[in-house]
Amino acid sequence: MHYRMVSWWLRKNNLPWPNENGKETFRRRADAMAREGVNSAIIFGAHFRWDFEPVWDQLHELIRFAAEELHQRGILLFDHHSSVLSCNYNPDPNRFNARKTSSNHRQMLISPPAGIMPGKRRDEWKMIDLVTGNPVFLSHYAAQEFCMNNPEFSAAYRDYVRRLLRETSIDGLMSDDALFYSHAACGCVHCRARFRREYGLELPDTSNLSFWGNWENPAYRNYLDMRRRTVREFLAGVKSVLPESFPLMSCCSSSIHPSCSERGLSYSLFLEAGANTVMLEMCGNTPTADGKLFGELSSQMHHLALSRENRLPCIGLGYGFSSDAARLIWAFNKFLGSDMWYSSLVHRLGLGDADIAAIPDDPEHLDDIFNYEKKYSSWFDSESAAECAVFFSRSTLDHYGSSLMDYSADYSALCDTMIRSGFDADAVTRIPDPGSQYKILLLPSAACISDSELEKIEEWVRSGKKAVAFGPFAFFDENRNPRTPDFAARNHLDIRLPPLNRSGYSPDKLILPPPPAVPCTGVRQAQVGAHFHWFTQRPAEGLPPEALEIIRREIVPWASDGWFIKKYRGKNGELLVHCIVSEYAVALNQKLEALRDPESPCFDSLKIISEIRPADTTGKLKLRSPQGFSRVERMLPLSGTEPEPLPLKEIMEPEPPVHPSYLILRFSR
Ligand SMILES: [Zn+2]
Repeated sequence: MHYRMVSWWLRKNNLPWPNENGKETFRRRADAMAREGVNSAIIFGAHFRWDFEPVWDQLHELIRFAAEELHQRGILLFDHHSSVLSCNYNPDPNRFNARKTSSNHRQMLISPPAGIMPGKRRDEWKMIDLVTGNPVFLSHYAAQEFCMNNPEFSAAYRDYVRRLLRETSIDGLMSDDALFYSHAACGCVHCRARFRREYGLELPDTSNLSFWGNWENPAYRNYLDMRRRTVREFLAGVKSVLPESFPLMSCCSSSIHPSCSERGLSYSLFLEAGANTVMLEMCGNTPTADGKLFGELSSQMHHLALSRENRLPCIGLGYGFSSDAARLIWAFNKFLGSDMWYSSLVHRLGLGDADIAAIPDDPEHLDDIFNYEKKYSSWFDSESAAECAVFFSRSTLDHYGSSLMDYSADYSALCDTMIRSGFDADAVTRIPDPGSQYKILLLPSAACISDSELEKIEEWVRSGKKAVAFGPFAFFDENRNPRTPDFAARNHLDIRLPPLNRSGYSPDKLILPPPPAVPCTGVRQAQVGAHFHWFTQRPAEGLPPEALEIIRREIVPWASDGWFIKKYRGKNGELLVHCIVSEYAVALNQKLEALRDPESPCFDSLKIISEIRPADTTGKLKLRSPQGFSRVERMLPLSGTEPEPLPLKEIMEPEPPVHPSYLILRFSR
């Protein structure tokens, strides 16, 4: 199934339910979705679900009404809410006051019944700040968080999910936020007891920096592992109360940074817990307000790897406020090989209710693009035909070092260099088989490698395919125990990795800027056998020309000025070449921008983009035709026109006279 999804927003005036106005609005919206080829809608609005506890009856009736209207039109409805965040159990009257917190956050919600829940504080469920001993406060959300290690809370949430399913007839669930948002969490009795039980240790005082923030201390790494296991077990508990194969996902825009790993924000963990749908949130604007489309590519490639390797759908959530945005977000998703969830986010703009009404409801932005996808579905039902695999080493991310520069920056830099140089690359989280489509395997800064990963790399190389390691490689096993001898020593190479030797950091502090990476010492370039190459310079410092030359001998780059290119294999062996402009000129809706509250939380990160055009610097698209095909057709999805045959030439210049931002060439035999 390919999801063509839009948000089903709940507004303040939807409660109390039932109400006739609300029913009429919902029916009209369901009609609009059916007209636009939407096949799945997802609730957005009643997010901090525990805040709605007194009105769950009404809310569930409302969701059931929406689900039934949608089902009559052949459309699925997912629910989407936060399992752990809450504002209304916090008695502090000033909780919305901090600058840039979600002072207007409650506008996102259907008005909850007012203030604190009578008689309930839920203090015993809350995560506790390790430094202050008070409930954790997440200022951006103005929220507190319930602790997944509290057995009473996690059982209560599972009971809630059972009831939600029983009362609403939803078709899928996105259960968000069950991770350790705060680095200073959690010092609750359950987390402390768990650490004691599993490791025989007390969590030390937060001034003890030989423990806190010190990734070279195995006890601290155990603590981080415990957090990750907590996240996995909580979501597995949610999974356990869902019917077999019921769609389950959780929110995540990126899993590749050490701060994500420390929090348990990892889509790999979610999949291990039983999530069966991959979510790819594209935060902020797509493209960004300065016109960039590819700023988060390496994070996106990682989630796409998880989707491809586990044969699970990937849904790319992009935010926009206009048809131009909806259509480009769709094109970007198709370019990446993911399904689209399109959403506005009007309540984050800091606009008054009357001004918000000037922005049409989400399905009205789609402008027929889903119908186009539906009509030409065979063009989009394809598998990646990338020729280069970039290995994402989760062991290195989770265990090697706390700095962004220790691993993530190198992985990201290599992904970026590949696509910018015209080498079509996939990220992989498992070493591929030698029989796979990939011609070359790249290993950026994979300091921690398991025995089985190392064996698979050796098998890859023995098959005659090239592997190129960059930066540190295989100095540790997957748990960061030193390998003796390590890969370099075993192969008589003079390459060493000095220890990090950093001081730890207090759980309430983030270190900015991130400390620099520790470079390898010894020779800068080495070779093992005919097919394994090792360049010890980290990819974040640039790729040596010799390394690019090795890659170029295996793959022909398809670079075209201002365009990015990805290849897919269709069901009948066709080669589908997706070409998208990488930079844009965007225009804002100045009238609405002028009305926004500059103190609102997303004032800088989210703009009301009304028009998107390819940047003037975009060059003419030029491609060398691949060998072995006799026919080529061109599709211009954003023009809405039918695909048409083109004359097959050695060098193709497939752009029409009117400049498009996205086109697909289909080469057939
Ligand atoms: Zn806790």
